[in-house]
Amino acid sequence: MFIGHFGVGFGAKKLAPEVSLGTLILAAQFVDLLFPLFVLLGLEALRVDPGNTRVVPIDFFRYPFTHSLATGVGWGLLLALGYFAVRRRARGALVVGLAVVSHWVLDWISHRPDMPLWPGGPRVGLGLWNSVAGTVIVEGAFFVLGVALYVRGTRARDRVGTWALWSLVGFLVVLYALNLMSPPPPDIDSFAWVGLAAWMFVPWGYWIDRHRTARAGVRSSHD
Ligand SMILES: [Zn+2]
Repeated sequence: MFIGHFGVGFGAKKLAPEVSLGTLILAAQFVDLLFPLFVLLGLEALRVDPGNTRVVPIDFFRYPFTHSLATGVGWGLLLALGYFAVRRRARGALVVGLAVVSHWVLDWISHRPDMPLWPGGPRVGLGLWNSVAGTVIVEGAFFVLGVALYVRGTRARDRVGTWALWSLVGFLVVLYALNLMSPPPPDIDSFAWVGLAAWMFVPWGYWIDRHRTARAGVRSSHD
């Protein structure tokens, strides 16, 4: 799943208005941000495999550290504790941790049964990626709902607050459409390097959030 995770990041603002969108995107996408690093380091592995599912031409055959449920919970704890250590906000820390774990759940819906419950454990997956229409509908719904919650829960402080947000939303939609239409990557290294570029969405989220105010009297704190 791709933009569905961003939907979670946006929507989580509703549960914890004091947490910056940048932190929420970092949390919801955290294991996918680590994944290309781990692949380039040789800790995890995948291969180009056209037809693996209708949507994604990749065989994710070894990714126990980023995409098992047990390590997902571990990363969630780590980020939640890190957030709490810096900000001392229990509710925000809980939402950050849950956003990290949500990644596994959303991927479990999308992937064929290649998602380990723990490293070396049984693999599960509902295989939504076997249907292009189903993928676009489910993922699109997560994304639209999340963005709607964020837009309703915050308001722009200035023009940057409007344009930074809508340029990110538009960029993600275009990227997603291109991704669905493009041929398989030439090799896994180029796939991983492109994946690393996704780190830019974290500072983009902080930038947006700094120019928007949470509604209902709760000030965003830009953390
Ligand atoms: Zn993932």
